[in-house]
Amino acid sequence: MYVGHGRCACAGITMGKVLHIKTPEVVDSVRTSKTVEEELNLFESALLKAQAELDSLIDKARAEIGAEQAEIFEIHRMMLDDPDIGDNIRERIKQGGINAADAAIAVGREQAQEFEQLDDDYMRERAADIKDVTSRIARIVRGGEAVTLTESVVIVADDLQPSQTVAMDRSKILGFVLRKGTQNSHASILARTMNIPLIINAKLPKSLEGEGAAASDDEDCLDLDGKFMGVNAVTGTFYVEPDEATIAKLQQEKDVFDQQRIRQLALRGQPGISKSGHRILTFANIGQVDDVEQVLENDGEGIGLFRSEFLYLGRSTPPTEEEQFKAYAKVASTMNGKVVIIRTLDIGADKKVDYFNLPEEENPAMGVRALRICLMQPDIFKTQLRAIYRAAARGNIAMMFPMVTRLSEVEEAKAICQEVEAELKAEGQEYAVPKIGIMIETPAAAILSAQLAQHVDFFSVGTNDLTQYTTACDRQNQNLGKFYDPHHEAVLELLRLIARNAHAAGIAAGICGELAADPELTDLFVEMGYDELSVSPGAILALRERIRASTAQCQSELTNARVHLGEIIKHR
Ligand code: PEP
Ligand code: MG
Repeated sequence: MYVGHGRCACAGITMGKVLHIKTPEVVDSVRTSKTVEEELNLFESALLKAQAELDSLIDKARAEIGAEQAEIFEIHRMMLDDPDIGDNIRERIKQGGINAADAAIAVGREQAQEFEQLDDDYMRERAADIKDVTSRIARIVRGGEAVTLTESVVIVADDLQPSQTVAMDRSKILGFVLRKGTQNSHASILARTMNIPLIINAKLPKSLEGEGAAASDDEDCLDLDGKFMGVNAVTGTFYVEPDEATIAKLQQEKDVFDQQRIRQLALRGQPGISKSGHRILTFANIGQVDDVEQVLENDGEGIGLFRSEFLYLGRSTPPTEEEQFKAYAKVASTMNGKVVIIRTLDIGADKKVDYFNLPEEENPAMGVRALRICLMQPDIFKTQLRAIYRAAARGNIAMMFPMVTRLSEVEEAKAICQEVEAELKAEGQEYAVPKIGIMIETPAAAILSAQLAQHVDFFSVGTNDLTQYTTACDRQNQNLGKFYDPHHEAVLELLRLIARNAHAAGIAAGICGELAADPELTDLFVEMGYDELSVSPGAILALRERIRASTAQCQSELTNARVHLGEIIKHR
């Protein structure tokens, strides 16, 4: 059995036989044996057929998923008539002796690349539409039919085009597992509209030998056609050829999920108030700008942790101030007034980048990471702070520092914030000063939380690291088993202390580590008086349901009447 992971873009649990749709290869060098005239004729008749296909797809989409979603295909229909595409394909056929299908794909690829480089999100999305339209033409030229589903399947692909998604018979699609994809791509939006479980950025297997091995991004993955797959698009996990025990466990999780989901969706718009009257805000953790769609879908009341370091990973230079500003401003404007807490750079430990020139470390989890890097290399920090301050003028943004161990670090960081503010002011830039909180994720910070609370606007507990450092268990080490225990009495004692000290100083306390979603602890968090819990978007409504069912009595409460973190962040 191979166990793979990806990001959940539409929650659900499913299993079944795989239909693996492969992306057609473009082999520009293959020359056609037909004459230019013959290839041109093939193209023109494919164009007519594509127009007819799209006309009926527009009708199907309007009837099945609504007029608004059908607009995508109206755009495709217009693109077919666009001389920029058609003439370019004709030109390519005439010059190159290339066959009509490859000419269409090559033109699609080139034009899409131009769109992909544009700044505007809307225009970038058009790249997928161009590829969709040109590969439709190519498929028709090659004599292929649109994918017709004859049985229920889990669809595995590199990426999906929106028209492929809609053209398939919805009742036969069990789920999607895509190697690429983004939360905001049309295929993702359509999957959510049709409520089909979807995992994107899936690490597909290179082999199934033993426990299997994942293919890296540029490696070919195994052909999974016909294999059996289990998909848990709540946790983002999928299983190729699962064993019987895994199938039974998945089936159980599916039954529970389906029942729960129906109940939980009715909780959208309802607050998380316990039976004893304690209100807990249910926020979301995100790592990328497009995760916000899932937050809104699940009625997140705010973003409790935006892991900004994901903007820094997987590239050869750090993101510029402008790139970061755009990302933060986009999240804030999409959240439309709800608070967005940006956690400043938390590079280090398992999140590595080459361009900061950090030394190799024996114990990176205890090394130069997070706020330590920012204080040692203030220029890096300043670029991010400038972007955050500027974006704060566009929406409700707060920020917090990770890996704090003592007050002097907070003071140093705040001094840099003041320098940044002075610079922005002198430049006449538009900015706002965000609320400043800290993560409590080291035992040192937890023990000193009474003192630290006098100097910040809120606390957010990082239970993943707090457990690691309190129990002396590397969170990456799979051999530690029961020893890495987030329910360890010492961790829970620290959690109680942190909430008490926050409230004594009149500031709010939240949790953004994985423990926030643990249903076994919701009662305890109500009792401790936590004000906010931040979890992955798909877990928000389940958490809210747990809070509403809790009869625990809150013993450390800041105030009963809180509606918005912006109001409760500081009561001093
Ligand atoms: C944590 O440590 O609990 C936390 C939320 O931060 P991360 O998991 O990103 O280290
Ligand atoms: Mg952490």
